[in-house]
Amino acid sequence: MLVGLKQYIQARTGQDILIVLHQMGSHGPAYYKRYPPQFEQFKPVCKTNELASCTAEQINNAYDNSILYTDYFLAQTIELLKQFDGPFEPALLYVSDHGESLGEYGLYLHGAPFAFSPKEQTHVGCFGLVGQPFRL
Ligand SMILES: [Zn+2]
Repeated sequence: MLVGLKQYIQARTGQDILIVLHQMGSHGPAYYKRYPPQFEQFKPVCKTNELASCTAEQINNAYDNSILYTDYFLAQTIELLKQFDGPFEPALLYVSDHGESLGEYGLYLHGAPFAFSPKEQTHVGCFGLVGQPFRL
C-alpha cells in the first residue's frame, strides 16, 4: 500500500495534501488472511471463516497476528512520513472503523446493533501523531 507513496508526496512539495489509506486491518472473520505468512507469530491459528470450528486460542492468535501486521504497517508509514519533515509538516491519524468481539459474552465479530453492542465492538482503536514522532 505504501509503494509509490514517496514519489506521490514528493511530486506535491509545496502543496497541502491529505492521503487516506484504507487497510483491511483485522477485519473478521478471516483474520488469518490479514497478514503475510512471516507475521504468523502466534500459533496455532484459526484458518477458516467458520469461527465456530476453531478454539478461542486459535481465533485470538489469528487476530493478534493481524494486529502485529497493522503495527508493522503503521511503523512503516511513520518511517515514510519522517522523510518529509521539513518540506511538509507530517501528521498521522489512525482510526479503526469498529472494534471486535473475540468471544466476550459469547459474541464474535462486530455486527451487533449499536444499542446492544458491547464496548469491545464500539470502542475503536485510535491515535494521532504530529510533530516530534516524525523528526529524524
Ligand atoms: Zn471493518
